Amino acid sequence: MSKANKIQMADLRGQYDRVKPQIDFAIQEVVNSTEFINGPQVKTFESNLQLYLGSNYVIACGNGTDALQIALMALNLQPGDEVIVPCFTYVATAEVIALLRLTPVLIDVDANTFNNTAELIENAITSKTRAIVPVHLFGQCADMEEILEVARKHSLYIVEDTAQALGAEYTFSDGTVKKAGTMGDIGCTSFFPSKNLGCYGDGGALITNDAFLANRIRKIANHGQEIKYCHDVIGVNSRLDTLQAAILLVKLPHLDDYALARNKAADIYDTELGLLDWLQIPARQHNSTHVFHQYTLKLSATIDRELFKVYLSAHGVPSMIYYPIPLHMQNAFKTDTHQEGDFPISEELCKRVISLPIHTEMSADELRFITDTIKLFQHG
Ligand SMILES: *Cc1c(COP(=O)(O)O)cnc(C)c1O
Repeated sequence: MSKANKIQMADLRGQYDRVKPQIDFAIQEVVNSTEFINGPQVKTFESNLQLYLGSNYVIACGNGTDALQIALMALNLQPGDEVIVPCFTYVATAEVIALLRLTPVLIDVDANTFNNTAELIENAITSKTRAIVPVHLFGQCADMEEILEVARKHSLYIVEDTAQALGAEYTFSDGTVKKAGTMGDIGCTSFFPSKNLGCYGDGGALITNDAFLANRIRKIANHGQEIKYCHDVIGVNSRLDTLQAAILLVKLPHLDDYALARNKAADIYDTELGLLDWLQIPARQHNSTHVFHQYTLKLSATIDRELFKVYLSAHGVPSMIYYPIPLHMQNAFKTDTHQEGDFPISEELCKRVISLPIHTEMSADELRFITDTIKLFQHG
């Protein structure tokens, strides 16, 4: 690889270059109008995303973390209510639960898909449990049919963390296909620049099919008001900028192509790395498509991950560890009830996973170079 084509974890510049005229025009249009807040592009984007997802309502907000917080606020959960959440996820998922003085109840994940399972969820249910926040980690849906069943049985709300899986599709056993974020009571997503549908700053959205929840969400995201200066409930200020909405309007029609490009790269990784006995390629579920927000390997226990990472880096191949520390081992979430060993799968994953470059602009040459480099790693 020449220095000019430095391999990147995500190539935001390359993706921009493909739609540069449209993006530049859209940005200029917003600047000319000076409708920086609540410009018409925000509503249009909400309705286009809603059509794409096949949901009844989409409400844009400031970022994915806000979306999760607003979702929990909209469900009117009370301090002390328990919310079940995986301990192998990005901190935002659990952070908002704790912030609202709800009790995050951490659970382990599946060793192969890295996702929540209905069984682990059901084992964690108590009389105080009110909601479950399944995370569609790395771009593949958690097993929602079983999770919905558990939720129904115990009358629990489901808030889907869809920040990494926008566009992924889940197929129910009766053949019904639904998009990630549309299956639970509320879906939450993020438009952080490196997410599958990324804007040029912060952005997020809530997805729901419930008219009452949609109203409440819209109100809470806007200082608890429906009519200006009439505040019905305590809310927050969380908006998607018009500029970001204008950018997302240009990018949304490309989301499926972005997923296709990521899948092409993942297929090559699978083929080239699948036969190596010292690592495990990402498990694919039969009932969910994968949008490969991340392509995450699980190394054998005998492999020194740090050595592997340094080796890759020395050859110009970047990599990342998502995530290095499970939530129950984070200082912020340490409680008297949890200690090392409580969630053995998540703890093991934190020691053994490593994510390879994956984005919409990867070339065959780059992929060949990365896989050749990995094959030559002296792991003995
Ligand atoms: C990115 C992410 C979030 C938070 O989104 P922000 O827009 O960065 O606030 C939440 N959950 C998961 C799983 C994420 O990957």
